[in-house]
Amino acid sequence: MRVTTLAKKLLGVSRIHVRGVENEEDGITIEVRPSWHVPRCGSCRRRAPGYDRQPARRWRHLAVGGMILWLRYAPRRVECRRCGVHAEAVSWAATLETRFTEAFEELVAYLARATDKTTVSTLLGIAWRSVGAIVERVVERHLDSKRLDGLVFIGIDEFSYRKRHHYLTVVVDHIERRVVWAAEGRSADTLARFFDELGPARASDLECITLDMSAGYLKTIRARAPRAQVIFDRFHVQRLASDAVDQVRREQMRGLTDLVEKRAIKHSRFALLKNPWDLTRRQGEKLKQVERTNRPLYRAYLLKETLAQALDYRQPKRAERALREWLAWASRSRLKPFVRVARTIREHRDGILAYVSYRLTNGVVEGFNNRLRMVARRAFGFHSSQPLIAMLFLCCGGITLHPPLPRPT
Ligand SMILES: [Zn+2]
Repeated sequence: MRVTTLAKKLLGVSRIHVRGVENEEDGITIEVRPSWHVPRCGSCRRRAPGYDRQPARRWRHLAVGGMILWLRYAPRRVECRRCGVHAEAVSWAATLETRFTEAFEELVAYLARATDKTTVSTLLGIAWRSVGAIVERVVERHLDSKRLDGLVFIGIDEFSYRKRHHYLTVVVDHIERRVVWAAEGRSADTLARFFDELGPARASDLECITLDMSAGYLKTIRARAPRAQVIFDRFHVQRLASDAVDQVRREQMRGLTDLVEKRAIKHSRFALLKNPWDLTRRQGEKLKQVERTNRPLYRAYLLKETLAQALDYRQPKRAERALREWLAWASRSRLKPFVRVARTIREHRDGILAYVSYRLTNGVVEGFNNRLRMVARRAFGFHSSQPLIAMLFLCCGGITLHPPLPRPT
């Protein structure tokens, strides 16, 4: 086998012609050119007459046996009828702006999605900041440009990063289960930018929007998608009740002077906040102790559980009645935190009951949030939100990568 034939085989790049191979200090450099003769415009990919030739440069390719393969070529500029004088297209790299081959960039993105920063950098021998730029390019290549078309059920949530000093607003498509939009910030204006991109026609097709009650997005949604049903995430609703139980517990703790009574509710937090079917035997006993000794706290516990039951109903009418009864009970419970929760729930009643009809939660968004949190920890060192958003799309945007993997034997 000739060495050029062998080199072409090792490259695994199609539409490439190998002209020579050189052994260099930092690896093996392969002299190449695109397999086509008439150059193509790098912007529109049409054939165009050559204009001039640029100095030779190298592209980093994969490594074989710990040896980096480099491609060397002196790219031409073309005189494109549409684009003017422009760099030509080459078969091994997506653009001429990158110093890496497409196969290598795919591999970087594949690993960045799967593993931690140190492993990626060590395994591939590139700096982590290069990874950020590569991920951005790969995402731009693969992200579905029609992802904002045909949206019907979406979820909107905020995501905090860098110790909660910075926020992203993230929009998820519940049906395709993927992130479709993200931007820095968490204000009504941030979300307005999503609706700007979506446009009024597509916005009027939105049927449901799941949302966290505390978020400041509601006004924007009412203005820009007035026909969409807002659904408040049931788990956020239940979290309000859990927080209220905890507040009651702390108030009781502070108020009690009797040591025995105090001991009865000490360390009761988990017993009170966990789902009853998840309680350990000791936590079950703790709960009984609370029931015997501290009526207000036990009442708080029952309120929390009853609210969850109300949201479990599958028939909207029954859920509505259960919620109405719950609101009445909570309002006269003489437990201030629950009086407050009742007020919040009453204000958001429609959106909370809509959950029963649609049974959609922000769970998908939350799941993505957890994944993103992992990624964000990895993305530490990315100094703007852009690479982080690219990472978010890479991991949760439904992107299919094409890393150069060996064919299974
Ligand atoms: Zn062109």
